[in-house]
Amino acid sequence: MQYTFFRRFFVCQRQNLIGRRDVSVFEVRFMFRAHNSIRKINSWNLKEGLIMKNVPSDISGFTALDPWWRTGVPTCILCSGNGIDDILRKIKQEDVQAFFLVDSVLEKQPLFAPLFIEQSKMLFNASASEPRTDDVDQIVEFLRSRDSLPDVIVGVGGGSTMDLAKAVGICLANPGKARDYQGYGMDLKKGHPVWVLPTLNGTGAEITPIAVLRGPEKKLGINHPYAAPAVAVIDPRLSSGVKPFNRFFTMMDCYFHHYEIVKSKTSSADAVQDARDGLKLATEVLDSGVQEYNVENAIKSAMASILGGSSTIGGRVGAVHAISYGLSNSAPGLPHSIAVTISMLALQELYPDGYEDTVRFLEGSGLSMPKASEYGIGEGEIEKMTSVALGMEKLWQSCFGEGWEGKASRTFVYDIYKRIVNG
Ligand code: NAD
Ligand code: ZN
Repeated sequence: MQYTFFRRFFVCQRQNLIGRRDVSVFEVRFMFRAHNSIRKINSWNLKEGLIMKNVPSDISGFTALDPWWRTGVPTCILCSGNGIDDILRKIKQEDVQAFFLVDSVLEKQPLFAPLFIEQSKMLFNASASEPRTDDVDQIVEFLRSRDSLPDVIVGVGGGSTMDLAKAVGICLANPGKARDYQGYGMDLKKGHPVWVLPTLNGTGAEITPIAVLRGPEKKLGINHPYAAPAVAVIDPRLSSGVKPFNRFFTMMDCYFHHYEIVKSKTSSADAVQDARDGLKLATEVLDSGVQEYNVENAIKSAMASILGGSSTIGGRVGAVHAISYGLSNSAPGLPHSIAVTISMLALQELYPDGYEDTVRFLEGSGLSMPKASEYGIGEGEIEKMTSVALGMEKLWQSCFGEGWEGKASRTFVYDIYKRIVNG
């Protein structure tokens, strides 16, 4: 009975996509989530693998899905079979002025043509760089220079473009520069609402309260509850034009999020359960090969990505990500997804099964093992990278649990980087 009652609220939330304004999506989401935690105890924890049996193989099955994550999320997630039309319709029906931040690579794909007709937009070249604090500051300055601010920022692209949109939303409402807000627990005002339309699934950025930015001093996220998007429209078809290389490495990042949260000593039980499901999905996608786009894998990737976001909310990654931050800081051109792969390849002793999977995925995909030297990282960077990685205390704590200080020693981390640069 109780389930049916709450399910009705979720249906209301779906209807919001077609313009109902009489239901608060956040209220609905929290009510549904509150109930989920009851259902989790009753069944989901006991029937591990239940969700996997329900993975749809086509878009109509995807749009009919009930939530498949357990951790409460602050974003209204809308499963769509036509994400572009749906987001444009929602903008019209809610009568909001939208400003689009769109990955410029999409301009070449006819599927995205309706977005490029929009006047109020800016293109972001995610192929050239992950988002920088300067990019955020320039966009904020541009928007402030106009007659009026938009009601909503809409980010369309992969993790880079969505994070850029999330950071712009925060910075529009706060006086400082983007770099002032990199870190945790800042005193921030609620930002402009941000809606996202992922075109590459895996990072979970479509729902996380994190906007990762490259700053003048460090690569670090704005980590704040206000950084989460208000709305995420998820359409697995939008990733059909992604190059296999990007599809592969973004799904590797997804795999590492789940793997590290499953292994974490500090993550919540819900986060670990979500990560288990996400790990299974990501592994299936990576084992089946990503050379060709197919809708089943795209659905699994979209589902795994959401689980990556939800598990990140209650969970924490570990050594792979700590080591990757040192690498990223020393190489402006090194994409995050490749940095984490290089890191895992140096962590065989700590994460033997993760290492084995990574090697198998790379071999199966026909891709060569990425190397730090290809991104200009050499011996001279080891000391600096060691200091950056050691600064990620919460990640080491997540990895080793109690007594982590003794295990994540300077020598331990230094030796990992030594293996990386000599590998
Ligand atoms: P991305 O957004 O950097 O895109 C990778 C490449 O794929 C780019 O060349 C982009 O132009 C291209 N691309 C995207 N969509 C496409 C499409 N539909 N067709 C063709 N090409 C397409 O990649 P990503 O892996 O999604 O995001 C990486 C970023 O996300 C990094 O900056 C990383 O730090 C960040 N990140 C954020 C979180 C978070 O919680 N906020 C989590 C993990 C990673
Ligand atoms: Zn990551």
